[in-house]
Amino acid sequence: MTPPTVIVLAVAMASTLAPCSNAALAAGPAGRPVAIAHRGACGYLPEHSLEAKAMAHAMGVAFLEQDVVLTRDGVPIVIHDHYLDTVTDVARLYPDRKRKDGRYYAIDFDLTEIRRLTLHERTDLDTGTQVYAGRFPAATTIPFRVPTLEEEIQLVKGLNKSTGRNVGLYVELKAPWFHRAEGKDMAKIVLGVLAAHGYDRRESNIYIQCFDPRCLRRMRQIMRSPLRQVQLIGHNDWRETPGVDHEKMLTKEGLVSIARYADGIGLAIDQLLSLRQGRVVMRHDIVGWAHDAGLAIHPYTFRVDALPGGVTPDALLDALFVGLRVDGLFTDFPDTVVRYLERRFPR
Ligand code: CA
Repeated sequence: MTPPTVIVLAVAMASTLAPCSNAALAAGPAGRPVAIAHRGACGYLPEHSLEAKAMAHAMGVAFLEQDVVLTRDGVPIVIHDHYLDTVTDVARLYPDRKRKDGRYYAIDFDLTEIRRLTLHERTDLDTGTQVYAGRFPAATTIPFRVPTLEEEIQLVKGLNKSTGRNVGLYVELKAPWFHRAEGKDMAKIVLGVLAAHGYDRRESNIYIQCFDPRCLRRMRQIMRSPLRQVQLIGHNDWRETPGVDHEKMLTKEGLVSIARYADGIGLAIDQLLSLRQGRVVMRHDIVGWAHDAGLAIHPYTFRVDALPGGVTPDALLDALFVGLRVDGLFTDFPDTVVRYLERRFPR
């Protein structure tokens, strides 16, 4: 592997970076960088609630993210994990429905049962406390609900109509290998729902994202899906997708191979830059290889309440958008990124 390029970029000095020229903007395959609402405006409202999506839409993002899993009766719902217990009251309502590992799986519940659940701010299963202490209170009687993919599409299309904007979908197929083991073909089901709502051509305002390259390859090469696809890349020790070496994808050869079935990559911010003794170390090599292969780069996840030590929001955004020239960014705080992009990359 090529060693990382070390750029001395004192964090406090990042605001002195020159604004990006139009020529620089053209360097990325996706044009003007985009803000992607990660699970909605989940820095402010429970993740994947329709309320969080409406708020993110109003904040002016280009895309809203949907993490999709299937119910027992095969309905795509929007929730981050194929478990229900970290963001709903499933353990209280259905105490005898957990599996041997103590977890409650969405695939074990029909949609009518999932509709009875109340969604809440993400909590830590071990401590029972909310993961991000400063966010929306987890203890509330507000009836937030787990939406179906269909309902969320209606929300986005409705808001696009009433606001005159054109916000896109950014659908993640969660753990297709798990759904396959449960006898469900999630790619077929989800692409069917999307097609029924008109998301069925190359120019449709949507990205499909997945950690599993086998699923993406199948959709593009066997199912002939014309939709734009993003290969998600994580750290191997997350064991997100069994049998897949994600870190090997972050090589020149790996990225050329991804470009055969995808239009972009989504990788963790710390795979692109890291702080070492007060210096920001940037992986310009990865960005160069990806752009040379025609791939857009959309890192995850920008959180103003979980920034690397001592880094300001603007310094991190400058490092990503100006220093590395990424093409988009997943964020829990859409307003911060939208305002930044409007300032740095005026239309
Ligand atoms: Ca996701």
